[in-house]
Amino acid sequence: MKKNFINISNHPSSGWGTKQLFSAGVLGAPLVTKCCRAATESPDEELIFCAQCGAEEPEMTPVILDIPFPRVPADAGTEDIIKLAKSLVMDIRQAIGTSNISGSIIHLMGEQSLCFILAQMLIHQECSVVVSTTERIVETDENGVKKSTFRFVRFRPLQLWSPEPYYEPSDVDEFERHREPWL
Ligand SMILES: [Zn+2]
Repeated sequence: MKKNFINISNHPSSGWGTKQLFSAGVLGAPLVTKCCRAATESPDEELIFCAQCGAEEPEMTPVILDIPFPRVPADAGTEDIIKLAKSLVMDIRQAIGTSNISGSIIHLMGEQSLCFILAQMLIHQECSVVVSTTERIVETDENGVKKSTFRFVRFRPLQLWSPEPYYEPSDVDEFERHREPWL
């Protein structure tokens, strides 16, 4: 089933690498053609082509709705953070065009206190909240200058923890456990 995929971070999806985009698609973000951001059509179910321009077997890309992570004032108190979190929930509703956001996947990266409150609100409304993990790659160029870049590794779910001996694996963990090693 296709799910709304919302990115609340300061890393717009336009700058995401192939692996991160692919993972978003596998988690359920709807796919559109790269050429025209259109659907594919295949009446005979053999040849897939872009519904807009007719390109055959077009490359696909996931639909990700970007919402910039707001600046959190250093002197903000809990009430301010709750206000910011509520306004982000409204932004999500507006982005997906309905007040029922359940089933949506929210990629959430940013200031901790706002993430913590917002993640609780979203989980309460039956959204999946995920973060990205990265690994640091250090390369040395020909002048001996070291350069670090961060490479996306996986999406990891934020889940409520309980001292009760229960554990319900999320869809995200299930996907990561079973995905092909080349991803
Ligand atoms: Zn096209």
